[in-house]
Amino acid sequence: MEKRRIYCNSCKNGTWHEVMASHIQEREDDLWGYAQRFDAEILRCCGCELLSFRLVKHPFAFQDKKDKPDEEIYPEREFNKRQRRFFWHLPKAVHTLYNETVAAHDSELHLLSTVGLRALIEAIVADKLAKTQYGKSLDSKIDALAPLFEPEVINTLHDFSKMGNRAIHDHIAPDRLDVHRALYVVEGIMEYFYSIADHAGIFQRLREEKVEEP
Ligand SMILES: [Zn+2]
Repeated sequence: MEKRRIYCNSCKNGTWHEVMASHIQEREDDLWGYAQRFDAEILRCCGCELLSFRLVKHPFAFQDKKDKPDEEIYPEREFNKRQRRFFWHLPKAVHTLYNETVAAHDSELHLLSTVGLRALIEAIVADKLAKTQYGKSLDSKIDALAPLFEPEVINTLHDFSKMGNRAIHDHIAPDRLDVHRALYVVEGIMEYFYSIADHAGIFQRLREEKVEEP
C-alpha cells in the first residue's frame, strides 16, 4: 500500500500514513473556464490510526510552469499551534483574554495577539492586586508586580509593554517568536496566581484523606 509521511495531530510528530483511498479528477473551474486537476486521498496514521484527508490542487494549464501544486490537509495540522495551558479557576476576563490571545497567535495575527497580551497582563493585575498598588498605565501595573517576581521578569514585561505600544500606536507587529516567548512568561505569572495554590490544596486534601483511612 502506498504511504506518505505527514505530521500527525495525535502522535504530535511526522509519521507514515497509509493511503487508504485515492481519487483523481479534472474539474472545470467556474471563474477561469479551464479544467483543473485535483488529487484526493484518505490517509491513516500508521501509529495511532487517525484519519486525515489530503487534497492537491494542480496549477491551470495557463499558469507559469514554475507554479507548484497547492496541498491542503484536513483537519488542519497543529504543529505550529501552541499547547494551551489549563487553569482551573480563572476569572472570566482573564480566561477570555488568554484564549483569544493564544488563538490570535495561532492564526498569525501578530498585532492582535500583542494587544491581547497587554490586556491580559492588565486583567491579571486588576484581579490579583489592590487598586491602591498601581496607577492607570500598564507600566505602573507591571511595577506593582515587582515584589513578587525577579527583576528580569519585570524588565521583560516592560519590554512587552513597549512592543505593545508600537503595535497599538504605530501598527508595527512584533515577530511571531517574540509573542510566543512573551506568552510563556505570562503563563508563568498565571501559574503563580491561579494554579500553585490549587495544586497545593489538592495535595493537602488528598494527604489528609489518606491519613484518615483506617
Ligand atoms: Zn498518529
